[in-house]
Amino acid sequence: MDTRIGFGYDSHEFKPGVPLRIAGLALEHPEGLAGHSDGDVLLHAVTDAILGSVAAGDIGTFFPPGDPRWKDADSSIFLNLALEELQHAGFRIANVDTTLILAAPKIAPVAGAMCSRLADLLGVNLDQVSIKAKTPEGLNLDHVAQCHAVVLVERVQEPEELKSMSEVIETQKQLEDVVEDLLSSVHGVPKKRIAPVYDTEDIT
Ligand SMILES: [Zn+2]
Repeated sequence: MDTRIGFGYDSHEFKPGVPLRIAGLALEHPEGLAGHSDGDVLLHAVTDAILGSVAAGDIGTFFPPGDPRWKDADSSIFLNLALEELQHAGFRIANVDTTLILAAPKIAPVAGAMCSRLADLLGVNLDQVSIKAKTPEGLNLDHVAQCHAVVLVERVQEPEELKSMSEVIETQKQLEDVVEDLLSSVHGVPKKRIAPVYDTEDIT
């Protein structure tokens, strides 16, 4: 199995009067996370982990914080772009594990709903996502929410149709090689490589 791993981290400061969104879920709380976008600390960490797994840069590469287009943006936009990069690289998510670090609100009562939302956004099953939470003991960071995320990704198997196509091409190549060998031994015609009809790398 061809697998890769990605890691992501993010932090945002709590600010009064801002809506709180974590894992794409709106939470009842007097404070929200300040950020250029909607400040969804968990989605940002997961987005970075996915981009990192296929060495595709980070969230800032695609969405510079100063760009007015991403002001108050729904962070699922960032996640979708990371998923596109992942797909483009030929990989899919095996599982995601995250740890939130925040003093309040309590995550345990909403962890199930958060996991469902995250699984939906990622297009995976519930047993492929995990959201854990801790309080920032001894860090003096009660005004901050942090999130760590790791993602394991696996290479998508070639569809059967493409596999059989490449087998046909392989057979054609072998046949051409035999003919070339015969020609060069009989007539002294120099061997040349015949390019395949199309580039198989592009059909993914
Ligand atoms: Zn962020």
